[in-house]
Amino acid sequence: MATSSPLIQPTKSRAIGNDLRTLLGSKKVKDDGPTLTAYAVDASIYRIPPQAVVLVESEDDIAATIGYARSRGIPLTPRAAGTNLTGSAIGSGIILDVSHLNRILEVNQEEQWARVQPGIVLAELNKQLSARGLMFGPDPSSGDMCKLGGMVANNSSGPHTLRYGSVKDNVQSLRLCLTSSSWIEARAYPLTDPTLERLLTMVPALRDVLVLTQAHADLIAAKRPTVSKNSCGYNLFGVADGLAQGVFDLPKLFVGSEGTLGIMSEATLRLVNRPASTLTALLHFKNLEEVGHAVPQILTLQPSALEVMDANTLNLIGRAKHGIPADAAATLLLELDADSTEIDLQEQADALRTICRPYKLASETTLAFDAERREQLWKARKALYPTLYRFDPKKKPINFVDDVVVPADRISELIRYLEGFFGSQHVPVAIFGHIGNGNAHIVPLLDVNDRGDFEKMVQAYQDVHSTVLNQFGGSICGEHGDGRIRAELVQRMFGEELYGLFVQVKKAFDPDNILNPGIKLSDASFTDHIDYTRLSKSCATCAKCNSVCPVYDVFQSEDMSARGWFEIVTAKDYSYLNSKRVVEACLNCKSCRTICPAGVDVSDLILQKRAEHPNRLAGWIFRLQAKGLNFDAFVHVLASTQRLWDRPFVRKLLERITGPIMKALAPTARLPHDLVLPKLARRHLRERYAHLATREIEESPTRTVAYFHGCAANYFDDGVGDAVIEVLKKHGVEPALPPQRCSGTPIQTYGHVDLVRDGARFNLWSFAPYKTIVTGCASCTLMLKDYPTLFPEGEERQRAESLAKKVVHISEFVARSSEHPPMANTGGTTKRVTYHSSCHLRAAGVTKEPRQVLSSLPGVNFVEMQDADRCAGGAGTYVVKDYDTSKKIFERKARAINQSGANVVATSCPACMIQLKNGLDDAVEVKHVAQLLQEAYRAAEGKKS
Ligand SMILES: Cc1cc2nc3c(=O)[nH]c(=O)nc-3n(C[C@H](O)[C@H](O)[C@H](O)COP(=O)(O)OP(=O)(O)OC[C@H]3O[C@@H](n4cnc5c(N)ncnc54)[C@H](O)[C@@H]3O)c2cc1C
Ligand code: SF4
Ligand code: SF4
Repeated sequence: MATSSPLIQPTKSRAIGNDLRTLLGSKKVKDDGPTLTAYAVDASIYRIPPQAVVLVESEDDIAATIGYARSRGIPLTPRAAGTNLTGSAIGSGIILDVSHLNRILEVNQEEQWARVQPGIVLAELNKQLSARGLMFGPDPSSGDMCKLGGMVANNSSGPHTLRYGSVKDNVQSLRLCLTSSSWIEARAYPLTDPTLERLLTMVPALRDVLVLTQAHADLIAAKRPTVSKNSCGYNLFGVADGLAQGVFDLPKLFVGSEGTLGIMSEATLRLVNRPASTLTALLHFKNLEEVGHAVPQILTLQPSALEVMDANTLNLIGRAKHGIPADAAATLLLELDADSTEIDLQEQADALRTICRPYKLASETTLAFDAERREQLWKARKALYPTLYRFDPKKKPINFVDDVVVPADRISELIRYLEGFFGSQHVPVAIFGHIGNGNAHIVPLLDVNDRGDFEKMVQAYQDVHSTVLNQFGGSICGEHGDGRIRAELVQRMFGEELYGLFVQVKKAFDPDNILNPGIKLSDASFTDHIDYTRLSKSCATCAKCNSVCPVYDVFQSEDMSARGWFEIVTAKDYSYLNSKRVVEACLNCKSCRTICPAGVDVSDLILQKRAEHPNRLAGWIFRLQAKGLNFDAFVHVLASTQRLWDRPFVRKLLERITGPIMKALAPTARLPHDLVLPKLARRHLRERYAHLATREIEESPTRTVAYFHGCAANYFDDGVGDAVIEVLKKHGVEPALPPQRCSGTPIQTYGHVDLVRDGARFNLWSFAPYKTIVTGCASCTLMLKDYPTLFPEGEERQRAESLAKKVVHISEFVARSSEHPPMANTGGTTKRVTYHSSCHLRAAGVTKEPRQVLSSLPGVNFVEMQDADRCAGGAGTYVVKDYDTSKKIFERKARAINQSGANVVATSCPACMIQLKNGLDDAVEVKHVAQLLQEAYRAAEGKKS
């Protein structure tokens, strides 16, 4: 089938999309099938396809979209990262995505506040603030992906609420557009402030809320939740508190209103100092009741976080995998912060041990003081919910009773009740959460497509919520929001009268029920719109993959993201031709696979779809390459003439001439004249090292270590292959260079699975006799390790598995080597070296060794750069497949390298080297880890001689 068919543009027949395009311009409006599929989900159990998506870029866009929606009576749903668990960022009308509004507008270090746009990711905000020693306190576990707009609208909080409170405690003011299209500054106005009077006149809805809160102060006080956290209903309690102190505290009203009262374009946030140091501790209790006794004592140490995971949760995530003792009945994770360097956390650790001494612990308390180890302790907790997706192919973790709050000292009692209840239902359940606040996340595993399980879900929804309200005097919602899932319970939680006030508030701001209808206040059943199809799939829709997807980083649009692509390619109505623009946009960087807690490989799904439409031109090139001699001769000709064709004016000409041919690779493909191409080798690596290279496959070679050099090291004159060989020799190894074909990565990205398999078969035979297979290229490393996935169960799979075990990247080889050849500083001066971690090497599990090697080099000051683990945008041939996007992806990497102050950036992959050399100026040298080693060994030799 022809693969150069034109890109299918978004359908233009839809009326709403057309109107919006006329209003806002076509770039900001999308209503094609794949986009609507991607935006039909968030991290909840629901699915509602919208009719159009607007990617707003300014306040004018927000006001215009609201005005349009109101004039036509079309539901309008604001959306940030779409990680809410309640269905509040999906809707049947227009989705207004604020992701492009993602700047920090102002930071006041002295007064400790920041003015930010709603599309900024929490982790990104804190990364930027960390340079000033500041941070935003509330920390939902989804902090790597969730955005400030969603956090504010949901009144999010997280493990550190104990110390920093929820979002509502940390917002100074908001800028909001109301359904009248007027803008307000929502801050705390003293009742005597003349500006307030003007505001109340301009926005009658605000006066309505003021009057209503004053008039019903007693009712509001009587219904105030008595637990430490609540995000259920509108926060008239906070407004009433303000009025009692003489201020009309508007942030209290809008924070937690879930996009139902207005759309936020800015938030001014209160910041806190980053702690000077932190201690993280893990305690495994043998007895659940003892947890209940220990918690109040531990709270006297004023921990900043105190988290619990019950026995079921520990079973479900796998005790052995996480080193959790078999007899642990519950695990506590706690954190103690020191605000100054004078506070001794070791003393705190001793105090913790003393508190725990009377209790039966299943193992020694684990203490971690350094950032990396602490992060490790948190890892399982933070990814808990999506990790549960791995447990069973049918029974999935379902969020429908996920966020209850009870008095903190009754949490063990709650856990006992829940274990009993779900035990009687024979339903596996994970119970974890913020024990210090009494906030429990309850996630039963159910197959909602099974009638019995569905009924159990409905029963649990009623029973658990009623018990929390009636027996524990708790709240049904601590931090995740009401959304669609708890909307039907809000009246039960607060009673008819207060619910009536909430309805009045909503009507005052949104008389036509345009803004996020069905959210917070609704009598629709929580089972409406459940996405039964998706709940049988492997993806938790948590969006963790979006946080590392380089394409999402550039486009900030769900249809151009890893999570969105999962939805698109697994949709019932998927078709390659309609989805080609998205299916071909993935870089195959594998960052999503590396990070996904549920074990989903989106890139592989995309490769499978490409395999249904292999690219013809690429197939022709790769077949020629597989034939060997002809292709090598062609590359020789290119190498010997490079001086001629690689001149600027010839390159411009070449870009024009090759244009139509490149279009056969992808509509966006070209050979950009300004792309710095690697120098081609006049004598290929195999020719230069003919004494190591064998032409035929050897059955019983004399050498035990083989070097899989791959294509780049063979054809490019970049010094990488020579460095790998020299480094191996220094370690006493003379490697063999057996006959080899392309490992398959680039071939796979163009859909030619059969060719990949053919090449793999050849390599399997050729490399089988060797004990160790050393690589220098990240992609070759991963592909060789992935060979077993190419073959069904059987002999070939076994051979592939055996080969995969023998593959080591040169940095691993050196880090593990018992030899320690002398090294010396090259050039006498100290180099500041940073490391770009190639995506495929990360996916192959090699992250520490290159850093270890670099840190060991004399005269090297190794500095870790921010975003070291993010894709640089080269991704093999992606740089020619979509040069413009590739360049945009690189911008973040270039910023990080510059900020690191490094004069050398090291990496482990020749393809990344091309991208780095192309995007960086001459002030920063680009080197392979093996080359830096080679230099250090040579310098030592020079000294000796
Ligand atoms: C694995 C995982 C762990 C989680 N852990 C936590 C946790 O520890 N604590 C916690 O509180 N939550 C948690 N959540 C839920 C969720 O991540 C948070 O509520 C988060 O703050 C939502 O942010 P978002 O950017 O994804 O918002 P979205 O999901 O996009 O939107 C959330 C709400 O905000 C509204 N909204 C978005 N932008 C605007 C705007 N500009 N103006 C007005 N309304 C707007 C939307 O309409 C919607 O109602 C978790 C979710 C997952 C998947
Ligand atoms: S693919 Fe994995 S990381 Fe991405 S949304 Fe699905 S479960 Fe989350
Ligand atoms: S492979 Fe890379 S570009 Fe493709 S979906 Fe995953 S993270 Fe995104």
